[in-house]
Amino acid sequence: MFTKRLIYNSEHEMFRESFRKFLHKEVLPFQEEWEAKGIIPREIYQKCGEQGFLVPQAPTEFGGLGIEDFSYEAIMLEELSYFNEYGLMLGLHNTITAPYILTYGNEEQKKRIVPRIVSGDAILAIAMTEPGAGSDLAGMKTTAEDRGDHWVLNGQKTFISNGIVSDIILVAAKTNPANPHQMGIFIVERDDMGLQRGQPLKKIGLLSQDTAELYFENVKVKKANVLGDPTKGFKYLMQQLATERLSLAVGAVAGCRAAIDQTIKYTKERNVFGKPVSAFQNTQFKLAELATETDIAQVYVDRMIEDKNQGRLTTEQASAAKYWTTDLLCKVIDDCLQLHGGYGYMKEYPISKMFLNARIGRIYAGTNEIMKTIIARSMQL
Ligand SMILES: Cc1cc2nc3c(=O)[nH]c(=O)nc-3n(C[C@H](O)[C@H](O)[C@H](O)COP(=O)(O)OP(=O)(O)OC[C@H]3O[C@@H](n4cnc5c(N)ncnc54)[C@H](O)[C@@H]3O)c2cc1C
Repeated sequence: MFTKRLIYNSEHEMFRESFRKFLHKEVLPFQEEWEAKGIIPREIYQKCGEQGFLVPQAPTEFGGLGIEDFSYEAIMLEELSYFNEYGLMLGLHNTITAPYILTYGNEEQKKRIVPRIVSGDAILAIAMTEPGAGSDLAGMKTTAEDRGDHWVLNGQKTFISNGIVSDIILVAAKTNPANPHQMGIFIVERDDMGLQRGQPLKKIGLLSQDTAELYFENVKVKKANVLGDPTKGFKYLMQQLATERLSLAVGAVAGCRAAIDQTIKYTKERNVFGKPVSAFQNTQFKLAELATETDIAQVYVDRMIEDKNQGRLTTEQASAAKYWTTDLLCKVIDDCLQLHGGYGYMKEYPISKMFLNARIGRIYAGTNEIMKTIIARSMQL
């Protein structure tokens, strides 16, 4: 980095160090094994829980650390992305899904659920997307019908991260067939009757992340498992998606740094025409450009982490950060892969795996085209 990062102090860096040590001991040695299996062992969540890496923002009364500073979550996102670890999706558990429970859950729900998601006994997933409704969330068909003392869910979700390994799934479902924007968020638990999980979907990247289809056939959801107001789910999704998008931007910039670091190392070691690849002007200019753009992105995202901490992160900012940094990541990795020559196309070299893992960033959490529609809307176009 050319510009000194100002958002982290020595305590943050100590935390980074301990999280990095944990990754090196408990996660990175098993990456290939987990990728071959297409899923991570659930015990890794408990190990994370023991170290305080799960939902650190949860209040102490519910077993959390009560750390309101988003920087700690950001550090974990950066480290996971830097080391190209996407099976252990702590961002999904900590930063994307847990906030729904912490923000909209009632006291009883928090008392019942939060200690389990802090300890890693319960792993989270969130299910919005359906086969016919991804970008157009209001087009979802899953319904929840009020039956007096409980709700009944029917429908299907797809592309659900942690779809197989999760114990608690927050499911978005329509609560009024006459109003496409009226939906609720329902807490569905592992053993709920009528919940069926499909086989893990076969993907080009994120190989250790289980992504699955979920089927809901007359799933009985007790009233105690409705999150907040069952008419306001759409609003809750819109409110929480900004943090989800920021989390992707945080990871994307760390991924850019990883790709550049690996390429510097590789091009110094590889000799062509009697000199290292790093000695060619093209290599130097390319890496100088990529490092500059990454530096610019980092300053921009760091400002947004501050904004998040100050409670002033806007939907437009988060959408802009998500689209621009995930596009940048794909560009940086593609150029870095090119500098590896044929070896960059080999699975043996991490850049090839980064190439495949990074691509999803432009699609999930709302496609980059949808990000631009959000930005444009804010410009009153
Ligand atoms: C690996 C993976 C993990 C995922 N994890 C989850 C998860 O945990 N939970 C969850 O709920 N979802 C998850 N998703 C779903 C993801 O968020 C959706 O795939 C994404 O929002 C896009 O929806 P879609 O696939 O239906 O694409 P579509 O909506 O069919 O889009 C197709 C194309 O049309 C474009 N398009 C759509 N609307 C417009 C428009 N208005 N203007 C211009 N272009 C437009 C899109 O940008 C895209 O290029 C995951 C997906 C993947 C692949």
